Amino acid sequence: MQTNFTSAQLADPHVQESEKILRKCVHCGFCTATCPTYVTLGNELDSPRGRIYLIKDMLENGRPADKEIVTHIDRCLSCLACMTTCPSGVNYMHLVDHARAHIEKTYRRPLANRLTRALLAFVLPHRGRFRAALKLAKLGRPFAGAFDKVAVLKPLAAMLRLAPASVPATSALEKPGVHAPKVAVLGRVAILTGCAQPVLEPGINEATVSLLNRLGIEVVVPKGEGCCGALVHHMGREEAALVSARQNVDAWTREIEKGGLDAIVITASGCGTTIKDYGFMLRLDPAYADKAARVSALAKDITEYLATLDLPEPQHKPGLTVAYHSACSMQHGQKITRQPKDLLARAGFIVKEPREGHLCCGSAGTYNIMQPEISAKLRERKVKNIEATGAALVATGNIGCITQIASAANMPVVHTVKLLDWAYGGEKPAGLPDERLLAAE
Ligand code: SF4
Ligand code: SF4
Repeated sequence: MQTNFTSAQLADPHVQESEKILRKCVHCGFCTATCPTYVTLGNELDSPRGRIYLIKDMLENGRPADKEIVTHIDRCLSCLACMTTCPSGVNYMHLVDHARAHIEKTYRRPLANRLTRALLAFVLPHRGRFRAALKLAKLGRPFAGAFDKVAVLKPLAAMLRLAPASVPATSALEKPGVHAPKVAVLGRVAILTGCAQPVLEPGINEATVSLLNRLGIEVVVPKGEGCCGALVHHMGREEAALVSARQNVDAWTREIEKGGLDAIVITASGCGTTIKDYGFMLRLDPAYADKAARVSALAKDITEYLATLDLPEPQHKPGLTVAYHSACSMQHGQKITRQPKDLLARAGFIVKEPREGHLCCGSAGTYNIMQPEISAKLRERKVKNIEATGAALVATGNIGCITQIASAANMPVVHTVKLLDWAYGGEKPAGLPDERLLAAE
């Protein structure tokens, strides 16, 4: 694509990067077919190609964002299916991140929208605040139907519906510390404890530590790590995202220098995509560029890391049929497609892949709160395809997808690592069917 930026505009390294990306796009439109918003809404401006034109026009003319561009960029899930499809290697992720930061700086959103976004940015990245908010949400849940009738309160209604009926007890893993194996030590990793996931489902990181320890891997929860910054990053709040990124880079760098790390293990693929991008996000900060690049290189999804280990035979082969839902951040963001399925199959599960596996489930960070209608349509489509597999349960590697799919599916939705932990000698995840009964059917 031809671009017309002035040399003064190109002096801005963010514009320079976006210009490089725009030049790669050849307008072929292949990406439209796999874009969930184009597939759902059928509007070119809600396709990757349409959004690329809108972003180009806004940046080239040095214009502040307007209502039209904000509408179409807000509808983008950042699922990155377009990047998987694009034959020209267009880095839509970095382009849309730049557009979101530009929108945040130049556009004044309506009051209700501003308040909802501010509330999400204030609460979600902080475990204590999020836990308190979930307890409050329990009281507000009966009013969700009433809030749904007022357009500006729809996000609040969506938030209340997504809140779990009960909040799990705080896990000991939230405290910094070292979890040493009882067998010979074969490796040492740090685990990202994160923000929303340990509050909603602490069992995911507990299963991870327990499995890794049994495999001889020491697991460190470093002091000072926290939210990866993805939630605010996707809202265009660049500075806030970089504060989180620097904090985590510092925490992991201390551990790397202290005892060395084989990997930084992440159990939420949404966080993994962002941490793997820290090197890019902090490239212009001379004090952090190298350290951030080192952290990004060490970041591994738990299944990616497990696939590098010499695993023993599973202690228990469950024989259950599992529909594997690949989160967008896993398959498109991190290009991890084979490892989770191979590990599940090796552990004795029968793995089924739902149709339209490339399409987002509609979770996408805070998307299911901010865009509840499109999100609900995508969820319905996803659940229908999952149920058509005839599987007894769903496995996936991202807490957002777990919450989204579980809110509509008639079967348990479990993190992949909890199933692997079970097969390799850990506890059976709660709510799973009895495999002996299923075998007898
Ligand atoms: S990130 Fe997803 S929703 Fe956004 S343009 Fe690309 S395919 Fe469409
Ligand atoms: S597939 Fe790639 S090159 Fe083609 S229109 Fe989409 S982004 Fe541009």
